[in-house]
Amino acid sequence: MRLTFDAADEAFRADLRAFLDEHCPPEARRGKDFVAADEEGVPDWARAWQATLFDHGWMVPSFPPELGGRNCTPLQTLLYLEELAAQGVVRSVHFGGYAIVGPSLLEFGNEAQRALAAPSIRGDIVWCVGMSEPDAGSDLANLSTRAVADGETFVVNGQKVWTSYAPFADKCFCYVRTGTDPEAPKHKGISVLIIDMDTPGIEVRPLRHITGAVEFAEVFFSDVVVPADRLVGELDNGWRITMGSLAHERGGLWVEGVAGSQRALDGLVALARRKGLDADPTVRRQLAAAYEKVASLRALGYKGFASFAQGSSAPEHSYMKLATSELRKELFDLGLDLLGPYGSVTAPELAEEGGRWWNGFFISLAATIGGGTSEIQRNTVATRVLGLPRG
Ligand SMILES: Cc1cc2nc3c(=O)[nH]c(=O)nc-3n(C[C@H](O)[C@H](O)[C@H](O)COP(=O)(O)OP(=O)(O)OC[C@H]3O[C@@H](n4cnc5c(N)ncnc54)[C@H](O)[C@@H]3O)c2cc1C
Repeated sequence: MRLTFDAADEAFRADLRAFLDEHCPPEARRGKDFVAADEEGVPDWARAWQATLFDHGWMVPSFPPELGGRNCTPLQTLLYLEELAAQGVVRSVHFGGYAIVGPSLLEFGNEAQRALAAPSIRGDIVWCVGMSEPDAGSDLANLSTRAVADGETFVVNGQKVWTSYAPFADKCFCYVRTGTDPEAPKHKGISVLIIDMDTPGIEVRPLRHITGAVEFAEVFFSDVVVPADRLVGELDNGWRITMGSLAHERGGLWVEGVAGSQRALDGLVALARRKGLDADPTVRRQLAAAYEKVASLRALGYKGFASFAQGSSAPEHSYMKLATSELRKELFDLGLDLLGPYGSVTAPELAEEGGRWWNGFFISLAATIGGGTSEIQRNTVATRVLGLPRG
């Protein structure tokens, strides 16, 4: 077992630190719990920062330079993700393009579509991903937005919901039903279309988060005409084009969850001290228990990473999204408890730490839903990791 990094990896880390010191704007250093896009769109600093990361090979370091990377190893990717998380640095305020669409186009797109990958990863094209519908969330295969082939075009009708970034996206990576066989299994007959958001017939109705931010929306499609060459991959076979296909980073995707929990815990310790609660035995016990959980999850993440880096599967990682999102919810909830009645003050100029605790609490709730709810994650761990029978 090797518990240290070699000289090449340390040099990699030093290069990254030097780059961040020189280029990272203060707005990007506020951690994920605070940084979001809003109805105003992607702020100028975020556009410039994502482009700078790409141009210097630091956007997705495992990719080649023409895709914003530097061909780095899985271990270097882990170092990269840890360093960003430790410094609270956010790469992008809209992950759809670099984390989902860009890699999916590279894997499944035709030549013209693959050419969209680089500007998507650089953030020049802002994407939304249209999967969820009123009757298709956890059960995504139930989606009913229909695309009917009509000569050289598809005509799309239906509705998406909770579509992040739709209020300001340039394009939608849209999951539609194209199959016509009513006897076919639900997940057959789904296709993916690239739809320009300014196409006539698209109506975006923004939805406000409980935090007040307007980041996602309902999207209605009424006789939206989409050229047939915008089909990604094979007709009726879109189920293969799954969410989160950033395979290069998969082994390290847990890092932000653990680092976010660590940041919340550090904040809680400081808060307890400031409020004179650090000698309270109940609070001390709660903080110690939280410390144990964060440390255990970090160890579990490393254990899974060791398997991943050796080419094996890492079942531990199926558990990390569930565990870290639920833990963050507990930690921010504890922060609100420590604040007592002041926890409910939401005005940034009056609230403790500019509203960090209530804002973080609400965002932590969303994180237990988006990308697969905690119940669905538990089902996955039960059946695929523990081998339990389906309920
Ligand atoms: C912040 C945020 C951003 C999002 N961004 C996007 C986006 O960009 N694009 C997009 O398409 N979607 C997006 N979503 C939607 C997200 O994918 C869905 O909310 C999620 O898949 C759950 O679907 P649902 O809301 O329809 O809930 P449902 O699936 O209706 O679930 C309702 C409740 O039932 C439980 N449940 C459902 N099925 C089971 C089961 N089999 N076993 C046990 N419990 C079950 C769920 O856990 C949940 O508690 C976003 C959501 C959030 C919170």
